[in-house]
Amino acid sequence: MPGRSLHQDYILISTLGLLIHSNIVVLQNKEIQMDNKLYKELVLKTESKDFDSISSRLKDKRALRLLHGSCGIATEAGELLDAMKKHIFYGKEIDTVNIVEEIGDLMWYSAILLDELGVEFEDVMDKNINKLRARYGDKFSEKSATVRNLDKEREILEK
Ligand SMILES: [Mg+2]
Repeated sequence: MPGRSLHQDYILISTLGLLIHSNIVVLQNKEIQMDNKLYKELVLKTESKDFDSISSRLKDKRALRLLHGSCGIATEAGELLDAMKKHIFYGKEIDTVNIVEEIGDLMWYSAILLDELGVEFEDVMDKNINKLRARYGDKFSEKSATVRNLDKEREILEK
């Protein structure tokens, strides 16, 4: 339904879930227990299933290049994390050659994203440092890391 918020959807889904199982609540005089069937019903109510719209968005070259870069960054970040997992949990030496390789792979996918967005690496570095200056000033603090002015940071990123 157009114009409905995610919060409203959640309330509707919760209500439907309660209605579907309201007999169980009344008869057993106890709270609904989550089970496989109920969980699957609630999951399927929130799945994006307008496959015609999804397919049309997949025909857009810009969206495909951004998806390619996004998928690549997620998978390469997994490979980087795997290198550290093998060191910490399996006792393997830190493989700095592999870590640098994965950083390069991350940069490769980042370059695709930036090319599609028409943005240079230098612009990203500049915005990143300016955002962090707004957050921390000249020095990190735990308070600044948790009490953040997201509007101010967004304003800096939009410049
Ligand atoms: Mg890799």
